[in-house]
Amino acid sequence: MTTNLCFDNDTRYQSLADLSHANTMALSCVADTVVTLTDESQLDDFMANTADSQPLFVLSGGSNVLLPEQLQATVLRPQMRGITITAQTEDYVDIEVMAGENWHDLVTHTVNKGWYGLENLALIPGLTGAAPVQNIGAYGVQLEDSMRYVRAYHLPSKTWHQLTTIDCQFGYRDSLFKRTPNTWLISRVGFRLHTNQTHISADYGDVQAVAQSYAEQHGHTQPTPIDVMNAIIDIRKQKLPDPKQLPNCGSFFQNPIITHDQFSLLQATYPHIVGYPMPDSMVKVAAGWLIEHAGLKGGGIEPIITHKKQALVLTNHAPYQATQTDVITAQNHIAKCIYDTFAITLYREPVWVNTDGTVGYEYAA
Ligand SMILES: Cc1cc2nc3c(=O)[nH]c(=O)nc-3n(C[C@H](O)[C@H](O)[C@H](O)COP(=O)(O)OP(=O)(O)OC[C@H]3O[C@@H](n4cnc5c(N)ncnc54)[C@H](O)[C@@H]3O)c2cc1C
Repeated sequence: MTTNLCFDNDTRYQSLADLSHANTMALSCVADTVVTLTDESQLDDFMANTADSQPLFVLSGGSNVLLPEQLQATVLRPQMRGITITAQTEDYVDIEVMAGENWHDLVTHTVNKGWYGLENLALIPGLTGAAPVQNIGAYGVQLEDSMRYVRAYHLPSKTWHQLTTIDCQFGYRDSLFKRTPNTWLISRVGFRLHTNQTHISADYGDVQAVAQSYAEQHGHTQPTPIDVMNAIIDIRKQKLPDPKQLPNCGSFFQNPIITHDQFSLLQATYPHIVGYPMPDSMVKVAAGWLIEHAGLKGGGIEPIITHKKQALVLTNHAPYQATQTDVITAQNHIAKCIYDTFAITLYREPVWVNTDGTVGYEYAA
């Protein structure tokens, strides 16, 4: 296969680019053209010479996408770097972060500087520019809690905009960017981080206990944000496979939301079923529990197999060879087993990218 060919003597443009190593699921993918952006002005230049009809797709760290074998689109890869302090008081620091900064590196950088708010989001793969797309969240904290604005390019009108958190229409793993795919390219994200060590959020699952043991090792009575971050890194490493060792794209299915009546009926047969009450007499059911109790932990359809420690994660056992078709085959098999067992429909979480660069999201509600 021919890969990474350059044209116009410009290494920012690659034709027939192999993206198999640019997605954490390690699916085989060749894109017509890839344009790497290291400066915002390069996007203006590129768009000035691009027909409105040209299919475009934005790809950052590739940790939440299912790429097609042939991607007949121009793939824009934001790799602008830099972290700038824009304001500082005794209580907080405002920073502006360029889209190409690695997310986990940003979290450790800020926490080590004594700027707090992102510690619960440690070890989430990907780049900063993608974080607002699904309002990333973990351990009781979401991006929107610290984010103030994004600077983003509106691809259809070829214009730059500054969007506040309200403009971004954030929801649970949801945003304007997710609801209007192929429309925006986020180039900068602004955050307000606080400098007070006592504002921590540690009452989620095992976090409190692990953070407390870190605190005691360091002679503190209460966990600090660094203790919380280290606890979360430990917990995540134990629970989630590292995509570099075993390709995956994190949680593959959304937790389904069913009526309280349906949940009560299931509870009569499965007294240990895991569900969390939601507004309007609805219950969010743990998809991982359903998969495990349908006997599918470590199962699936080769080479796409559920992880033996965390059934919600689908892993690729044929890296750089398996394709989107293998993924949908395994997804349909798992979803059918769950429906046959519990009469619950499972929906996918990662972004499905079509051959023409358009994307398909599945929404449970
Ligand atoms: C092991 C593992 C664990 C994970 N854990 C979590 C978790 O705890 N919480 C959580 O929320 N997510 C989690 N994820 C999902 C994923 O890491 C996040 O969604 C992350 O923000 C994706 O970043 P990325 O750079 O890889 O984006 P990509 O996968 O490259 O892109 C994702 C989507 O965003 C769009 N996009 C990317 N960059 C931009 C941009 N600059 N401007 C506009 N649109 C853009 C793409 O077009 C695509 O639709 C996990 C994934 C893995 C593999």
